Amino acid sequence: MPADQQAETHMISHFSFPTRIVFGPGALNELGDEAKQLAMRRPLIVTDPGVVACGLAEQILAAARRAGLAPSLFEGVDPNPVEKNVRDGLDAYRQGNCDGVIGLGGGSPLDTAKAIRLVVTHPFPLEQYDDQRDGAARIRGDLPPMIAIATTAGTGSEVGRSSVIILQATDRKTVIFSPHLMPNVALADPELTLGMPPKITAGTGLDALTHNVEAYLALGYHPLCDAIALQGARLAVQNLPRAVQNGKDLAARSNMLMAAMMGAVAFQKGLGAVHSLAHPLSSIANLHHGTTNGILLPHVLEFNRPASEDRLRDLAVEMEIVGSQASAAEAATALVARLRELLPEVGIPSTLGALGVTRDMVPQLARKAMEDACHQSNPRVCTEADMIALYDNAL
Ligand SMILES: [Zn+2]
Repeated sequence: MPADQQAETHMISHFSFPTRIVFGPGALNELGDEAKQLAMRRPLIVTDPGVVACGLAEQILAAARRAGLAPSLFEGVDPNPVEKNVRDGLDAYRQGNCDGVIGLGGGSPLDTAKAIRLVVTHPFPLEQYDDQRDGAARIRGDLPPMIAIATTAGTGSEVGRSSVIILQATDRKTVIFSPHLMPNVALADPELTLGMPPKITAGTGLDALTHNVEAYLALGYHPLCDAIALQGARLAVQNLPRAVQNGKDLAARSNMLMAAMMGAVAFQKGLGAVHSLAHPLSSIANLHHGTTNGILLPHVLEFNRPASEDRLRDLAVEMEIVGSQASAAEAATALVARLRELLPEVGIPSTLGALGVTRDMVPQLARKAMEDACHQSNPRVCTEADMIALYDNAL
């Protein structure tokens, strides 16, 4: 075991896994009971136009009314949420005389719901809560209650403690991070993910897979996260092709929803270079986060080999790609090959070039990737030249 992942004998570690999760087909039927336990009677349901268009918002409104709640609906969340969405959501909360928040959708509505919940009891502007400026110290625990209902199996924001909002004052995706932002309950009902189209299933599922793999490889002492990450990676790699090929496969959908939550719990430990390389591809080239993660993952694992072959072997054995007798070198080779094969299996191109990324964009992307904090926990140190080489390989 590498020295950096042995038990700490000279410092105190902090672990917390506090989200209540209600999981399984039909979990939505428990919405009323969960709301009552939180003394939530007039929830604001925060979602986006896509969730409304596919009928899921109406389904949740009906479930809330059946349970005796008086919900209001706010559907004004942008694909990349901005401060105005939070202000408009707060207006809707006040107008509805609401006493709690239900986030409904993928990462964007869930993150916006967390920010609305924050500003119910905390003043604007939002930049004072920026994690890069120690904003967490300004966030108290007196937020109204929140229930998170995910409709994708990817970010795991339903069990996460961060909210990502684009702010004019910082001119970037700003992370607000506090344990107080964590939803009180994640209502995880895989039936709500059955209608997700194959392309979104693939892109979001690759994000879940990458969270588990990068968390397992990340530097730092966290055996609890490691155990969750290994099992989460196994669930993701074994179930994603099934969920993409047959969207109605409830077992595959259930396993992917669980893998997404496990990934988000596990990456409390940290992420790695894949996420640092992917973030600028979203902000500069407007590409889908999970899709670019999936393309970059085999390249970064190849790069990480000298530093983490034993851990790559653990992943390959857990995923049943090799037997327990395989050497670390054989296992790492087989793992990288399997993750390359996975892309065409789930209908995602194998190169960034196929998504429109060109060689002349690489220097700017690499500079931004270095500014991103995720690679600081990557098992092998990344220089800007390494970032350039990784983008070039993935082109
Ligand atoms: Zn991610």
